[in-house]
Amino acid sequence: MQRLTGRVALITGAASGIGAAIARGLADEGAHVVLTDVDDDPGEEMAASVRAGGGKARFLHHDVADPASWDGVLAQVRAQEGRLDILVNNAGIGDTLPIEDASLAGWDRTIAVDQTSVFLAMKLAAPLLLESGNASVINISSIFGASGGFGASPAYHAAKGAVRLLSKNAAIHWAQSGVRVNSVHPGFIDTPMLDQARGTEMEGLMTGMTPMGRLGRPEEIAAAVAYLASDDASFVTGSELYVDGGFMAA
Ligand code: NAP
Repeated sequence: MQRLTGRVALITGAASGIGAAIARGLADEGAHVVLTDVDDDPGEEMAASVRAGGGKARFLHHDVADPASWDGVLAQVRAQEGRLDILVNNAGIGDTLPIEDASLAGWDRTIAVDQTSVFLAMKLAAPLLLESGNASVINISSIFGASGGFGASPAYHAAKGAVRLLSKNAAIHWAQSGVRVNSVHPGFIDTPMLDQARGTEMEGLMTGMTPMGRLGRPEEIAAAVAYLASDDASFVTGSELYVDGGFMAA
């Protein structure tokens, strides 16, 4: 069953990890997917791979922290696809230091990429989303948007927590305008973002803190996003969906 036939989806940070899996998952459901990222070569390769699998996909260069880059991407989507029904704000970076060691510049960069980008996305895509009449925005937060985690990464936690509430605020604003907004909160997912932790004590800590005892797979996040994008979630807005192997229940 293809739940997204005829819909156009924009997925940020789609050259890698969770974003790439989301792009493939939405395309498998029949959506025309626009993959964006700062990394051009892997982004183009991912779009080509989706096309090779029978999907409709193209790649655009995009820095989600830059309002002018958003303007350019959205103008291209309006010109070429002519509509936008699904917006997945997935691009993100991590910070690792504890608060005493974190720099203001590092804080500002993480907030810009992980938090301000979601504000820019919804503000600048609003005309296209409202024109859709049946739009779904999915903002990728984290278990670290609702818990203190390991006590490090202050900017990441602050940004992901802000994404959680910004999603609810926009959901209420657009509740009767045909735009649903939800946040997805992955647990520890096996992507390049975890490369630094792989094989270290930290990896054992992550699986140890996860009741299911393993890392998640990017496809497990993509499945949640496909549900929220589809009409199966037609009465779901302002919600936060945890895909975390039980982390938040513990
Ligand atoms: P990833 O593999 O590092 O993929 C993120 C992609 O976003 C990369 O291609 C990255 O490029 C790109 N990106 C970084 N800054 C960007 C910018 N300014 N504009 C556009 N693209 C940019 O990470 P992931 O694990 O798939 O994470 C995807 C999302 O899930 C993030 O929001 C992350 O916070 C969230 N998340 C991940 C986990 C996890 O355990 N993996 C858990 C909870 C939440 P570069 O490689 O050049 O940086």
